[in-house]
Amino acid sequence: MRFNVPTLRAAHPAARALISTPFAYSSSAVRTKNITTSAAPSVSFVSLGCPKALVDSERIITRLRAEGYALSREHKGADLVIVNTCGFLDSAQAESLEAIGEALALNGKVIVTGCMGAEPEKITAKYPNVLAITGPQQYESVLDAVHRAAPPQHDPFLDLVPPEGIKLTPRHYAYLKISEGCNNRCTFCIIPKLRGDLVSRHASDVLREAERLVTAGVKELLVISQDTSAYGVDIKYAASLWKDRLVRATFLDLARELGTLGAWVRLHYVYPYPHVDDVIPLMADGVVLPYLDIPFQHASPEVLKRMKRPAAQAKTLARIARWREICPDLTLRSTFIVGFPGETEKDFQMLLDWLDEAALDRVGCFRYEPVAGATSNDLATPVPKEVTEQRWHRFMAHQQAISKKRLKRKVGTRQQIIIDEVGPTVAKGRSKGDAPEIDGAVYVKSKRPLRVGEFATVKIERADEYDLHGTAVGF
Ligand code: SF4
Repeated sequence: MRFNVPTLRAAHPAARALISTPFAYSSSAVRTKNITTSAAPSVSFVSLGCPKALVDSERIITRLRAEGYALSREHKGADLVIVNTCGFLDSAQAESLEAIGEALALNGKVIVTGCMGAEPEKITAKYPNVLAITGPQQYESVLDAVHRAAPPQHDPFLDLVPPEGIKLTPRHYAYLKISEGCNNRCTFCIIPKLRGDLVSRHASDVLREAERLVTAGVKELLVISQDTSAYGVDIKYAASLWKDRLVRATFLDLARELGTLGAWVRLHYVYPYPHVDDVIPLMADGVVLPYLDIPFQHASPEVLKRMKRPAAQAKTLARIARWREICPDLTLRSTFIVGFPGETEKDFQMLLDWLDEAALDRVGCFRYEPVAGATSNDLATPVPKEVTEQRWHRFMAHQQAISKKRLKRKVGTRQQIIIDEVGPTVAKGRSKGDAPEIDGAVYVKSKRPLRVGEFATVKIERADEYDLHGTAVGF
């Protein structure tokens, strides 16, 4: 069944309720002295198409209202217009284009979403000046486009949610997601099936969120995505306005700008594409942390081929050596899979030899699991469970000796430590080389009590397999 909703304002009772509610709160609130008088940005919304599109509209509007946006009955005078389009039939596409044209004529600032967004060239051919085009169900992208065109206003007296959002991490560190989905097709992974292709956020959105986090007391930003080094490729590295300058959506530019915010910036899930080399000097200069989390997964070319891993591995060892020349303090963390279908003893031995040469600092290892839907399950003869188990133990013992040796090099040095937990006699923290949850810790003795989230300079006195121990010598 299909029915048209010409605009939310007129057609659907639920939509009318959504639209009419805002006027009770409405835009300009005059308050008592010391409370800023502010006008919430207002959005005019047109929803076209089937009930699925209507539900998408409801979701977007719900999010907008939760963020404090007002909804306008008229295009004229609103801060922007969102048109949720339908592309089912030619007539529906014509109606969508007409709605976009009307919104441009009456307002000028128009964001297009919905089914027609899947074919953006049909829209830009007629209306090249729309602000943004997103596909169906891309709620985050619509919200990001709205934030860019009319940033939300935080009212501490009314908003239930702080400007930095609700965080489940401790106050002093936060994850910063720069994209969703993935363009790679690693055969053991079903994430692209679940989350779709890469959708990058614009640099200005990421930076705005990062700045809000730092303002709220976050001292360490953990940059995450499925493939951090591919950031921006889907939006053609589009530049967006951040403060007084345009910042391109590239891995390098984003890292550089994040480094200006005054927090530690840690990069996770980076693949060794050639352009990753460019970020190493930023690490050497202290702009971002000298830490790279690169999931290598294996070292045998045969296994890597069956895994369909992105980026050629052949020259990886040479590149690691070059990175360490430029940035001697670089910490490298990685993850691997043992027991991948068809992995021979020779492949596995190659992996152990590679680990010796790479001398990675921190390593995690997974036993291969045949995840339902992964193409790798049928690629080659499965490795028997007990062999996988043995290899896992051999791998862990092998790498443990390497990690221990790497860690020992820090004994006698002074390291800046961020404190995560405090106890009666010893506090637990992390150096620049330790990410929360996955890496080791630094146990710190101190003459004065330390506070969670505080930085201390610590003289490292001892190392064991995974952790460092030392005494605070500066605050
Ligand atoms: S393993 Fe990572 S890079 Fe590979 S497809 Fe999955 S999410 Fe993408």
